[in-house]
Amino acid sequence: MNSIVKDNLVSIVGEDFVITNISQKTSYLYDEIEHIMRPKADENSIVVKPKDTDEISKIMKYANKIKMPVVVRGGGTGLCGGCIPTKESIILSTERLKKIVEIDEDNMVAVLEAGVTLFELLEELDKHEGVGFPVHPGDEGAQMGGMAATNAGGARAVKHGVMRKHIQGMEVVLPSGEIMELGGKLIKNNAGYNLMQLIIGSEGTLAIVTKIILKIYPKDKYSATIIAPFKHFNDASNAVMEILKSGVTPLAVEYQDKHLFVETAKMLGTEWQAKQGNADLMIIISEKTEDLLYATCKQINDICQKNNSYETLFAGKKSEQDELLLIRSQHYEYIKDIIGHSFDTAVPVASIPAYLNELKELAKEYNTFTNITAHIADGNIHSDIVLVDGKMPPYAEELKDKIFKTCFKYNGTITGEHGVGKLRIDDLKLQKSEVELNLMKSIKKVFDPNNILNPGTVLDM
Ligand SMILES: Cc1cc2nc3c(=O)[nH]c(=O)nc-3n(C[C@H](O)[C@H](O)[C@H](O)COP(=O)(O)OP(=O)(O)OC[C@H]3O[C@@H](n4cnc5c(N)ncnc54)[C@H](O)[C@@H]3O)c2cc1C
Repeated sequence: MNSIVKDNLVSIVGEDFVITNISQKTSYLYDEIEHIMRPKADENSIVVKPKDTDEISKIMKYANKIKMPVVVRGGGTGLCGGCIPTKESIILSTERLKKIVEIDEDNMVAVLEAGVTLFELLEELDKHEGVGFPVHPGDEGAQMGGMAATNAGGARAVKHGVMRKHIQGMEVVLPSGEIMELGGKLIKNNAGYNLMQLIIGSEGTLAIVTKIILKIYPKDKYSATIIAPFKHFNDASNAVMEILKSGVTPLAVEYQDKHLFVETAKMLGTEWQAKQGNADLMIIISEKTEDLLYATCKQINDICQKNNSYETLFAGKKSEQDELLLIRSQHYEYIKDIIGHSFDTAVPVASIPAYLNELKELAKEYNTFTNITAHIADGNIHSDIVLVDGKMPPYAEELKDKIFKTCFKYNGTITGEHGVGKLRIDDLKLQKSEVELNLMKSIKKVFDPNNILNPGTVLDM
């Protein structure tokens, strides 16, 4: 990296907060994408760690003047290479934007700087009796800015929806360096186009999120987890649809192939207790009172039994529930190094059984198998292409195309929650019309005429 750039950045944030000579091993270069799918980062990039919005604004004014790419890095927990600097870039890390500005219990909002992690938010809310925040995308190292930029979802979306539902206001810095306030503590706000919703989910390509106003909620006091094992996936899926129609809304309904539960439990030094069947549902229920919890559990249990589940397992103690959830959330660690493509497709809920059966048949066509794990009540399915001898198999691209075509047949999407990042730019073209893609490109040009903010992400410009 040019030493003039370094000197200018040092003049804005100070010597201690600029890092040069970063190698491929530096954690600032990669995110949690599968190793084999990683786009190569440019080691000539430079890391800068501003302390506040003003410094970010100065960095952007400078970068825009010299037309230098800027890649914003939050917690680096993304799964599609969004924060990987594939061109020589300024890596702008938000790790020092840590202020929990306010927990406003009257308006039920939290005002947070972008670098506050999900873990830190939950820890802070624990100090406020009965208040919580529901969105939980698997990794608590994710930052508020990153969760907003990726419109994070996760297991609890079935009850609480995804990130964009919970953001009421934002402060952002534009590629020009201008600072903009959007939304606020308002519940209703119809003044003009909703630029805030456009920026949510834009994966750091339109603006840098520096602060968010986030809705917080009264916390459910009582929770339980049910494991319902089924012989056939179709029965499990029918049970899910019946639960959704019944009027009860679980906190999460997760599906995972049996072998993933069994092997992940083994990896964690424990045992998966549901021995029967091939298809297990993990249903988490949370309610305000014990009576309600009991009634909901009973209703869900009855529906599972009616749909041919084996005997269900019930966990009421927090420690037992935590252990089950850990097994569910650590499956990625178990498969991460043995898979190539990891898919995050989503289809309408009613199409899940047919779609999933076709995914399994497609894998068989190539004498392979796929690991399925799903936020099933949202129609969001994670499947993969398994490596052969540690390498991407020769049929991978062909199989990938078939998987996406099958997904489109059911009116699905290539990504339900992980985003496009640097990984799925070409795949997005399979899903979107030219009219829509051109409109997105025009929007990008209005926000970022010099294409400096996270170039090569979402769209190729
Ligand atoms: C084990 C595991 C499980 C996961 N499960 C889920 C899941 O169930 N659901 C789900 O939705 N996600 C899941 N994820 C993905 C991940 O946690 C989310 O994408 C997360 O929201 C990204 O936040 P981050 O701070 O780590 O962002 P990063 O990874 O640092 O960045 C992600 C993108 O956001 C941009 N960005 C980051 N901060 C800002 C900012 N302040 N302003 C503008 N742009 C910014 C980056 O440039 C990049 O394009 C999982 C990840 C892991 C590792």
